[in-house]
Amino acid sequence: MIKVENIDKIYGRFKAVDNVSFHIGKGEIVGLLGPNGAGKTTIMKILTGYHYPTHGTAILNGYSIYDDLLKVKESTGYLPEMAPLYDDLTVMEYLDFMADIRKVPKSRKKIEIDRVIQETGLGPVVYRSIGKLSKGYRQRTGLAQAIIHSPDILILDEPTTGLDPNQIIEIRKLICDIGKEKTVILSTHILQEVEAVCNRVLILNHGKIVAEGSPSEIREQVQKDDRFTIEVAGSVDAQALKNLEPVSEIISSEVQGGKTIIKISAQKGADTGALIFDWAVKNGCRLSALVPEQTSLEDIFRKLTNQTEV
Ligand code: ATP
Repeated sequence: MIKVENIDKIYGRFKAVDNVSFHIGKGEIVGLLGPNGAGKTTIMKILTGYHYPTHGTAILNGYSIYDDLLKVKESTGYLPEMAPLYDDLTVMEYLDFMADIRKVPKSRKKIEIDRVIQETGLGPVVYRSIGKLSKGYRQRTGLAQAIIHSPDILILDEPTTGLDPNQIIEIRKLICDIGKEKTVILSTHILQEVEAVCNRVLILNHGKIVAEGSPSEIREQVQKDDRFTIEVAGSVDAQALKNLEPVSEIISSEVQGGKTIIKISAQKGADTGALIFDWAVKNGCRLSALVPEQTSLEDIFRKLTNQTEV
């Protein structure tokens, strides 16, 4: 559905996108995740034909951005970061206008407008001026215009920016529903968004893809060891665990409320849990917890993009 091959984008002397390639199949919801300035919007603008890349190609729905831009535009719906809505128009007038712009046949216009109103839940506000809508309804209106011509591909630039938590949940649900039938690429710098909505993620940093896969695949690629938190009754010398073969490091050990809480790292894939259990039994230690720790996507993102804060 989307094939991007070796794309560069150079603004003046600044390389905003650096040799990016990826493929996205039908029915996938893929997140472009990256810190500010990573190149997410630039890639989306290339996919929608707003910018040409300096080098490389993109093919959407079988159409090249160089040779068949009109077909590319027919196949895609785009929700830019700041959806260009006309505040003086009502939602209905705006959708009618966008249906004309997107060349929806006159005979189908009413059907398509009714469909997008239904799909995006705009029913209660169709005759309200866009200028008087809440941000959540404005975003729904932006989504409605993006799907008015039934495109196969949806390109959404930071679709939940500026929304309150309830609106964020509603818009994410809407994207998941739409994503069941279409190919969706969305940009975000919100990690929870990726976990909540995307099947796959491309992590971008300084214009380059630094990791790609489902959140669990990326964890697998980045996490070099297994980590455990162990709780043992009483005060225990954690260093004794170092004698277990897979244990590579005692990360921390502290006594709290009559328990020793130990964090360790161990060789990836070893049967460390069972060995710790045996060790506790052999040494007469009462084990009250043995928890494998998963590196959070946030930690991974930080590691890959050298961010101190996310
Ligand atoms: P954000 O999350 O802040 O929206 P982004 O990942 O979408 O960031 P882009 O908007 O693609 O990043 O910008 C990538 C880099 O290219 C930034 O350093 C930006 O300043 C630069 N840039 C973007 N558009 C232009 C332009 N038209 N001319 C010059 N530089 C640009």
